[in-house]
Amino acid sequence: MTGTAPQTGDPQRQGVHRGAHDDRLYAGFAVRDGRITAVAATDEELDAHVGPGTTVHDLAGASVVPGLFDAHCHYNHGGMMVLRELVFPSHATLDEVLAAVDAFARELPEGAWVSGGSWGSTLLPQLSSLEARARLDAVSHGHPVHLYDDSHHNAWVNTEGMRVSGMAIDGSGEFPEGTLKDPGTGELLGVLLERATDTVRTHLAQVQAPTPEEHLEFARKGIEVLNSYGVTGIQDALIREADLVTGHALEKAGELTLHISSCLWNPGPGRAGHDFPALKALADELGSDLLRTDFVKLALDGVPPAQTAAFLEPYVASEQWGARHCGHVTMDPAELVGVLRYNCENGLSTKIHCAGDASVRAAIDGFEVMRSEGFTDVRFHIAHGQFVTPADRVRMAELDVVAEISPFLWYPNVIVSAISEVLTEERTAQMHPNRELTDRGVLVAGGSDWPVEPLPNLWLGIAGLVTRADPGGRFPGTLWSEEALTVPEALRAFSLNGAKAARLDDEIGSLEVGKCADFVVIDRDPFSIEPAEIAGTRVVSTWFAGEVVYEAASVEPA
Ligand SMILES: [Zn+2]
Repeated sequence: MTGTAPQTGDPQRQGVHRGAHDDRLYAGFAVRDGRITAVAATDEELDAHVGPGTTVHDLAGASVVPGLFDAHCHYNHGGMMVLRELVFPSHATLDEVLAAVDAFARELPEGAWVSGGSWGSTLLPQLSSLEARARLDAVSHGHPVHLYDDSHHNAWVNTEGMRVSGMAIDGSGEFPEGTLKDPGTGELLGVLLERATDTVRTHLAQVQAPTPEEHLEFARKGIEVLNSYGVTGIQDALIREADLVTGHALEKAGELTLHISSCLWNPGPGRAGHDFPALKALADELGSDLLRTDFVKLALDGVPPAQTAAFLEPYVASEQWGARHCGHVTMDPAELVGVLRYNCENGLSTKIHCAGDASVRAAIDGFEVMRSEGFTDVRFHIAHGQFVTPADRVRMAELDVVAEISPFLWYPNVIVSAISEVLTEERTAQMHPNRELTDRGVLVAGGSDWPVEPLPNLWLGIAGLVTRADPGGRFPGTLWSEEALTVPEALRAFSLNGAKAARLDDEIGSLEVGKCADFVVIDRDPFSIEPAEIAGTRVVSTWFAGEVVYEAASVEPA
């Protein structure tokens, strides 16, 4: 059903692709110099664009969709994970995690860290004991171990890992909130939440600091993996100096085969050692059409399973947190407005990590002040935004705030289970009101948060937006099926909406005349099959600026 058949001449001049899908069904389109020059409804119309030097790719009815856009990912980290880290599925049991550590640690040179993840948040209670720490130590073969959870906000570290990082295992001294201790002995359990991970992560960043060559290697791998899933545009949600230098080097070498919207990381006022103006200056120097640098990323809270996300109503009562724990936002309103105003005055859009409905509220309050001060030409994103109160859904529409939804928490899975344990099933069943937001006119843009999703397979997210059911079939039932999107809406959430959210829709996001010829040939027609089958979509080839950047070894027709 697929297959390309170049007929004549110079592939640079024009290529006609038959079987293109937009919202409507098109017969094909023409490409010249990396841009779309015509979109044709019929074969006859298409033939009019074929000249003597034209290369015709007859896809024999195969489906073509716009290159996908991942509105929240971390491609360097994803690439590093694929190349360097211990990877196990977030549904792994504690025994399976320990077996994975055992096998990985045996192969490592002396003193090297076992680093990787990600353990399901549902394991948190099981890991929070001296016995669990002893079991981890027993399979570590003397290596320090650092394993993050499925949110990447929290970590489980063995005794050696804490020792070499300079933490006193007996629990003596000052530790940040989120450093779990044994209630009997006061010893550190090795479970570290949010900021409590800083000591180990800072140490790890020093001893494992990638060389510039390794940075390039990780970035190349990240791009290769994204292209293999049909992704030709991303918003990287946390960009530091090294990421800019790497992206710029790849662009100069002609290896940047996707559009990157960089979110410059600003951890907020008072975070030692961070120099945002320096990062901004470097961004101004290295930014380009392909490597955009006009977004800033802030975080207002943590994640629900660790009870560090900020909610308006308390979490389920627990021994550790008590009965009235709501979490808290990390910036007060004046600080937030100060940072937002700086961004707006510098023409920078802002993406804010908000995992609970209280942090969403705080972010929208800040956005409202900015809109009232006349800053209407910048984008504001609520990142993740699983929990939005009905009143704030209305405000998001009024204030033109983007709902950036990531990772895939709109269907039952291990993170959703972990959230329901700390918030109750009822509240968890109110996650991701994507239907209502869409109907109100809010731009809903999907992201993987890769490596939070273990791979940037956006087809799983697209299928799940329509079915609200686990595409892997591991978790039964659906999550708030009334909030399902249609297939065209779900596809747009991962293409045109993402491009709009990143202010790139004049260039990418749909197959329209004048836009970059970024598109994906896939093995099935998402518009004519059962939505659940979209999850199994195989990419036949990915095209960036009219050139093939990924081609499957062999894909059988679906
Ligand atoms: Zn992220």
